Amino acid sequence: MTMINRAADIAPDSSAAEAAPGIVRVDVKVSTPAERNALSYASREKIYAKLAHGTFRNIKWAVMAVTLGIYYLLPWIRWNRGPSLPDQAFLLDFANQRLFFGPIEIWAQELYYITGLLIISALGLFLVTAVAGRMWCGYTCPQTVWTDLMIVVERFWQGDRSARIRLDNGPWTFEKVWKKTATHITWLLVAVATGGAFVFYFRDAPTLAAELIEGDAPALAYVFLGVFTATTYLLGGIAREQVCIYMCPWPRIQSAMYDRESLLISYRGYRGEPRAPHKKGQSWEGRGDCIDCKACVAVCPMGIDIRNGVQLECIQCALCIDACDDIMQRIDRPQGLIAYDTFRNLDAASHHERAPLRIVRPRTILYAALIAVVCAVMLGAWLNRSVLDVSVLHDRNPVFVQLSDGSLRNGFTVKILNKMHEARTFRLAAEGLKGAQVSIVGIGSGEPAIEVVPDNLRALKVLVTVPAAKQDDLKGAATPFRFAVIDASDGATTYHQATFRGPEHESEHESDHELGHE
Ligand code: SF4
Ligand code: SF4
Repeated sequence: MTMINRAADIAPDSSAAEAAPGIVRVDVKVSTPAERNALSYASREKIYAKLAHGTFRNIKWAVMAVTLGIYYLLPWIRWNRGPSLPDQAFLLDFANQRLFFGPIEIWAQELYYITGLLIISALGLFLVTAVAGRMWCGYTCPQTVWTDLMIVVERFWQGDRSARIRLDNGPWTFEKVWKKTATHITWLLVAVATGGAFVFYFRDAPTLAAELIEGDAPALAYVFLGVFTATTYLLGGIAREQVCIYMCPWPRIQSAMYDRESLLISYRGYRGEPRAPHKKGQSWEGRGDCIDCKACVAVCPMGIDIRNGVQLECIQCALCIDACDDIMQRIDRPQGLIAYDTFRNLDAASHHERAPLRIVRPRTILYAALIAVVCAVMLGAWLNRSVLDVSVLHDRNPVFVQLSDGSLRNGFTVKILNKMHEARTFRLAAEGLKGAQVSIVGIGSGEPAIEVVPDNLRALKVLVTVPAAKQDDLKGAATPFRFAVIDASDGATTYHQATFRGPEHESEHESDHELGHE
């Protein structure tokens, strides 16, 4: 564990304006674990995160550009699937019970692929957390990305940390009113764009955009647009870190997923303590490298001090690394006082030893193996995926009908799903029922041709009749048989089990009574 506050022989001068020559000590309120755990109610302290510069800030800019770019632009990418199908590359076409992901189309009957993807994503998240902590929270979580975007907007209109503090503490002048108004209007525009992009995933984006503007869109589109606009504005613009600390369960779950070998953003107390401002010409002997400038706290979007150790509130965004590296460079000390490190190495380093990074360990092997298994299952299912789906539903009322000539008739609803992007013709037969005749309402009898248009589902009302002369072969009240759906072009046949219902035999009655059945 970190050796924070291990010695107090060089006491920090809390009143010092400079932490080192030319480096101003930031006057920033730190949210401490003790304060947060106190039972008494305390109103929120607004956090004025300072703009950080450095490697991790640049990575976060890049991740933000890519993730927001994907989210906003994806519904506008086109994909030609032929004349009868939608040309939107990514479309969640719930109205027609199917999802389009570029060349891949998943029907409602195949939602287990989505389940598989969600399992792989969850396991991937566990693996990343075991290796490098809350990477997801710090870089790609939508709450982090949109909060970052809202802070960019705020900074654009109101300036960086000290300017924003001055503005908030000052009286309500014209300048303050217009800067605050401009900030909130821009936040709302971002929120509307976010809600708009969301609904575009569910319907042809250009069409829906025109409908939304003209007021002709479905009511549900306006509802979701409103909900997403409100949540983006409130969660990203107003609530910010409160969402991560109080609303999100993930920090609590994640802390069970990393261990002493996980790379976490850590303050190297063995190197930084005892901390104190550094005066010009003063020796670095017998003191730590931390000059207590609080630059790391000033950039923290959660308002915490990483020098207090790993905390639940830390989203591992790495901005404190950038801030401290900049300070170290300016005071000519080695960078990495705050860095990605493991608990094991921090312990070893405090005894002047090193503990090498161990990414391959039982926990990570287990997660990787589970991911591999689920991927293999998904791949196998995908390679054996059929291009035709048949479902059969027996009529419930009446279960069977006895016609005037003594023949028995059962009604079924047979659904044929043609997953190919071309029209197909099928024939339908009943196998395992001697003398059975199949007729399809509206089409005809005797295995008539059934046309199913590309990428569509056709529901058929099917009547199966067994003449009186053939009923000796029926197995009482329930005779199993199967429907055969034959592709007219190549004879490929898909079967579906069904049951033909009829009156119970005398012998069934007797045995039922013997067994005490009704
Ligand atoms: S850890 Fe680095 S940035 Fe933070 S107070 Fe110490 S010297 Fe300053
Ligand atoms: S302590 Fe550092 S890594 Fe954690 S949230 Fe604050 S700036 Fe990000």
